[in-house]
Amino acid sequence: MKGITILGSTGSIGLSTLDVLTRHQDKFRVVALTANSNVELLVKQCKQWQPEYAVMANTEHAEMLSKHLRKNAPDTTVLAGEEGLEKVSQLEEVDYVMAAIVGAAGLLPTLAAARAGKRVLLANKEALVMSGQLFIDAIRENNAELLPIDSEHNAIFQCLPHDVSAGLASSGVTQILLTASGGPFRTISLEELEHMTPDQACAHPNWSMGRKISVDSATMMNKGLEVIEACWLFNTSADQIQVVIHPQSVIHSLVQYADGSVLAQLGNPDMRTPIAHALAWPDRFDAGVEPLDLFKVAHLDFESPDYNRFPCLRLAKHAVSLGGTSTAILNAANEVAVESFLNNEIRFTDIARVVEHALENIDGHDPSTLDIILKDDADTRDISRQYIRRLAA
Ligand code: NAD
Ligand code: MG
Repeated sequence: MKGITILGSTGSIGLSTLDVLTRHQDKFRVVALTANSNVELLVKQCKQWQPEYAVMANTEHAEMLSKHLRKNAPDTTVLAGEEGLEKVSQLEEVDYVMAAIVGAAGLLPTLAAARAGKRVLLANKEALVMSGQLFIDAIRENNAELLPIDSEHNAIFQCLPHDVSAGLASSGVTQILLTASGGPFRTISLEELEHMTPDQACAHPNWSMGRKISVDSATMMNKGLEVIEACWLFNTSADQIQVVIHPQSVIHSLVQYADGSVLAQLGNPDMRTPIAHALAWPDRFDAGVEPLDLFKVAHLDFESPDYNRFPCLRLAKHAVSLGGTSTAILNAANEVAVESFLNNEIRFTDIARVVEHALENIDGHDPSTLDIILKDDADTRDISRQYIRRLAA
């Protein structure tokens, strides 16, 4: 039995993970579940899974959870805050940690799991975008395992040779083709984009996801973050990664080799596939996903990305070229901007303006320590909030 902690069990990835686990209860024991503020759902999950620990982001919610669990899961210990999240990522009885908290809030517990030598199932791409080398070093130095949950990165992982430690080129890889659905606004004109609402942005054509990543998909910042994520995961540079718009989301990404071969991973757009892959790796087991019906799919289309309508993709690549903490600055500005957009404070097209403003006005630093990264993250949030007040005025 493998012990597993699910960071962010009440979210979209958390729910898909629990769905896969229900099919394999002979192989996994849920040790800890965590949530931000959804007490009701965490109570329900604790009742079903009877974990050793349940963690809420703050003490007020933790107290509410405690009260409900006295009857429903009396053996579950309730913890609160950052300390609680880090603790359940490092427990001896935990083998796997599903990192499915959204945004920078996931960084410290995910890093704690890496430092404790766990198998880290990484959905929380923002953690890697922020901490890059530091995170990769923590994985290596502590003999942890890093398995990508992001569908594209999981696909690339499946199409690469097992050992790429000597670099992609020496494995004969010439290019990574990172597919993107193009999001809900793929065909919307620049003029119309300005008026798009949060609900329109969150109505993704192929995937059902949390609101933050849904907005990122609409701006294509998600693909920008994924280019950065791929650079770190596969030890490669951004110019070796080509973004390919593929509206059907059936090919989850491809790897091109020197001999002209292109390997792709296909499947229905269902996050249970990459989750099951990472849980079972190097074996395979049932994910509960419908088999792919190619006759139903019938067509696979490809387009090149439009950097004019989707400037966030360009900004993400620019942050990579700036180096240092610039990708953490990009991420922090984007998180603040997306939140403001979801609160109807700024327009859809202002998200890119906020990110551009941050990259132009905040100097990045050498990201050698977590403190440096967290300071640039905090400064960026302050400066971006000030800029948003100006934009909204
Ligand atoms: P979501 O909003 O549905 O869920 C987020 C989870 O994190 C919830 O359980 C929430 O309670 C928790 N959380 C939020 N803020 C927190 C905080 N401050 N402290 C502690 N916990 C907090 O998001 P999601 O769609 O499941 O995405 C999670 C992560 O996975 C994101 O980084 C996203 O980019 C990545 N991802 C998601 C998908 C997908 O299909 N949903 C695909 C690829 C990658
Ligand atoms: Mg993805």
